[in-house]
Order: sequence, then structure tokens, then C-alpha cells
Amino acid sequence: MMFLPNIRSQASLLIAVAIFCMTGPSGAATKKGAPAKKTHIVASAQKILPRLAIPPYQIVTGQATPPPRTPFGYYKQEAIWIDHTINVCWNMSASHYASTKTYRHLITTAVQNAWPSVSTAKFVGWQRCGSSISNGFGIAEKDVGPYSAALGSELNHNLSGIVFNFTYKTWSPVCQSEIEYCNRLIAVHEFGHSLGLAHEQNRPDTPRGPECTADPQGENGDVTVGKWDLHSVMNYCNPQWNGNGNLSSEDITTIQQMYGKPGSASLSPFEIHFPSPILDGFCAITNGVTTFFADGTAEWDASLRNSFPLFGLTASAQLVIKNGSGHTIETTHTFTSPPISGGSTTKWRYKFVYPASSFTSIHKLTLNSTC
Ligand SMILES: [Zn+2]
Repeated sequence: MMFLPNIRSQASLLIAVAIFCMTGPSGAATKKGAPAKKTHIVASAQKILPRLAIPPYQIVTGQATPPPRTPFGYYKQEAIWIDHTINVCWNMSASHYASTKTYRHLITTAVQNAWPSVSTAKFVGWQRCGSSISNGFGIAEKDVGPYSAALGSELNHNLSGIVFNFTYKTWSPVCQSEIEYCNRLIAVHEFGHSLGLAHEQNRPDTPRGPECTADPQGENGDVTVGKWDLHSVMNYCNPQWNGNGNLSSEDITTIQQMYGKPGSASLSPFEIHFPSPILDGFCAITNGVTTFFADGTAEWDASLRNSFPLFGLTASAQLVIKNGSGHTIETTHTFTSPPISGGSTTKWRYKFVYPASSFTSIHKLTLNSTC
């Protein structure tokens, strides 16, 4: 889901602005959390413009942005996990959990040797589920056709995100004598879905005919990578069932396009959406994209449109980050845009350092700005 502006917050903003304009800098709008006025407005415009304070907007993890893509694979852009360290747990009773250790171990190993070995995507945890899970999903077991309930981050918080079958009593009994083989191949395929991959035979360029007779199944992707790949583990038409659990070279290209090669940044770019336009007529920050790099730096791209010339906009970005032990780290970055001419749109890029070694997830990003 992309972040949608909260109507209520926009309404309160307008009210706050109205109060602010009536009461001046010591009025109600400055009392509650509004940042200090930092913008340098040219003298002539200063007389015309009321001093406006824009309250903080909270952006909660869960929004992906389309980074530049070139068109082997098929995936859903918005389903890429922003935080590539994905929590997984086994959603089963204590006795079921204890009695399925061999199968669970087999699946864990098959998964870890596949997608995470060639990308920055990581699956961590692998314990019994508690009552909830964040930045991740649960794995259940039932005697049904194994499935992934959705693609990629759409599985977030779902305690039955992937369902395996350890008995094959009613579904595919042929697997009863090949439980290890079946689970290994199914694990690679289903965890491909959990990273956002759709079925290769769902691609619009699938050659219908003798080469591929399987029908499209399940949710479609919206990005195709390279040529249609017969040998993808995600292709029902692969002459080897689930590619025998071995990623094709195109599967690897695809997952690296989605999540980067091992060693690259473990967060995807994401978009910051402001209610747009903010205070049309005075100042509008249309959006921003934050890109995280493996070297511990990040860049925030934003564009600003203003009716009046400004020397620059000063804004602060607050990153609230949780590390592995759940400790919260907050960092604040203040940055200033270049001078902005009236009636035009100015783009700028701000580079800041984030504590790459100490976080597991971005909990929220708050931007306070004045203009
Ligand atoms: Zn599938």
C-alpha cells in the first residue's frame, strides 16, 4: 500500500494554519510539535507571506517506490520488502513444532541456499510464532496444496503466509515417498513468492502453445525482467518441476534486480508522500524518495514548488530505527534546499549518514519542514 494522506491531518493542518495566521507566532499552531521557523524568505516576500508551520508527517514503513528498472523474471514492484531482513516464524502448536523438526530444518536449509545466497534478502527467526509478527510472516502446515497467500510484503503480519504440507495424505500423495524432495522444491518456489515473484507463466509474453500449456495462476506481477524464462523455478512450464529447486540464472538476475547483490544496501528506496499539494499557493513539497546505500549513506530526493522566491527550505528528517535487540535509535538530520525561485519547481538531493550496522528496520521516518 502506498501512503495515503490522512484527510484528518490535512483538515487539522488547515485549521492550525488558520489559527496560526490569526494569532501569530505565539498562537496555537506553534504549541504542539511544530518545528521552529527556519526558512529564509526574501525580504519582499516576507512581508506578504504569513509565517506558516507545517506539522510533522509520519511515514510508516510499508511503502515501496519504483526505482529505475530495465526490462528474466516477473515480479510485483510494490511487493518488494523495503527492509530486506524478513522475519519468519512457524505457526504451529508446541507439539506440532517439536515433531516436525526434520522437515522444518530441511525447508530452512533449502530456502537459505536459494534466494538469500544470491541477494540481500534474508529470512531470520525461524522459531515458533508468537501472537504477531512484523516485517515478516508465519509459516503453517496443513494437508493441502502448499501455497503462499500473497506476494512479497503483502504477506506482512500474516501468520499463515506460507503453508506447507508435511504428510501429503490427500494432496499429491506421490510426495509421501519423496517428502524431502517435494518440500525442498516447494520451499524454493513458495519463498520466491514471499519475496514478490509471480508465476513466470503469468507473464504477458508467455508463448502460449506447445512450449507452455500451463494456465496463468495466482497474482500477476507488474515488472518483467529480460526474456520469458522457461527454466525459472517460478514457471509451471519448466520441464523440471520447480526447476528441481535450482534457481535459473535469470531467477538470480531477477532477485538481484529486486533486492540487490549480496553486500549491497539492505533497504530498498522508498517514497515519501506528503499530502500534495501542501498549502497550494504558498509551498508544496510534492514527494521525496529516500535511497539507502551499502556504505551507510542515504539520499533523499525531493522537489519543492513555491509561489514566492525563497532563499531555501530547511527541513529535518528523523529516522527512528530499531536494532536487533529492539532498542530504538533516533537520528535527526537537518538540511537546507537551494534557493527557490517563485512559481517554479526546484529539486534537490540531500545525502545523510544512517547507522547501517545497528538497525534491522526503519520504524518510521518523520519529516518536519517549514516553508
Ligand atoms: Zn506458485
